[in-house]
Amino acid sequence: HIKVGILEVQGAFQEHKVALMRANQCLQTTIKLEVMEVRHPDHLSPDMDGLIIPGGESTTISLFLKRNNMEEPLRNWIQTKGHVVWGTCAGMILLSKCTENQKDGGQPTKNSPMPIELFSFQLGMLDTVVSRNFFGRQVQSFEAQVTIKAPLLIPSNTQTGTSDSKCHGVFIRAPAVLKTTSSEIQVLAVLERPEQKDSVIVAVQQGDVIATAFHPELTDDLRWHSYFLKMIEKAKEQA
Ligand code: GLN
Repeated sequence: HIKVGILEVQGAFQEHKVALMRANQCLQTTIKLEVMEVRHPDHLSPDMDGLIIPGGESTTISLFLKRNNMEEPLRNWIQTKGHVVWGTCAGMILLSKCTENQKDGGQPTKNSPMPIELFSFQLGMLDTVVSRNFFGRQVQSFEAQVTIKAPLLIPSNTQTGTSDSKCHGVFIRAPAVLKTTSSEIQVLAVLERPEQKDSVIVAVQQGDVIATAFHPELTDDLRWHSYFLKMIEKAKEQA
């Protein structure tokens, strides 16, 4: 029996739930999966095994958490051994230690009388520096092939002998990881940009925490949700 919570402030709660259920079916385990909404400190129960922090707007989500006295309970829940957390998009920003705003891509804060950022926070569970809206205002949303770096996420097709190291990435005003600041960070996926001649980090893992800049819940590819469920099983075995 696995219990997964999904933070329900904004973003794709339902899509994540459906993808989790389908992934669990595909894994052909007999494990019962229970998915629940997390909107209140009491929802962060110690016997919940995993948590997804979906996309949305990271400042808004952090302000919601603060207003509902969820910041400390959430930190404590994440830091409890055996608990696994996955942040997508805004969730990645929240989980990161540090943010760097791009000059022309950041949220408009210049003219606000009260910089709302003063009241928002990041959970700091990943040793990463992220850039919010990395891809700028012009390209708010786009879809592209992402290159997967983690072997566990690349199932090989035994019939054809090929392995699929690409996945479809849906990016919506997405962040990117500019820097990793510890060797504990494992890069799970990058976005190769031939025009810019670079490769941008778009998925990372540090221990029981993973983050993706894109939205696997908006595609039919269940690998990321399966990976998350496998992480939970492993963490449960070890705890
Ligand atoms: N750019 C958003 C932020 O700063 C994240 C966008 C998303 O989650 N789709 O929070």
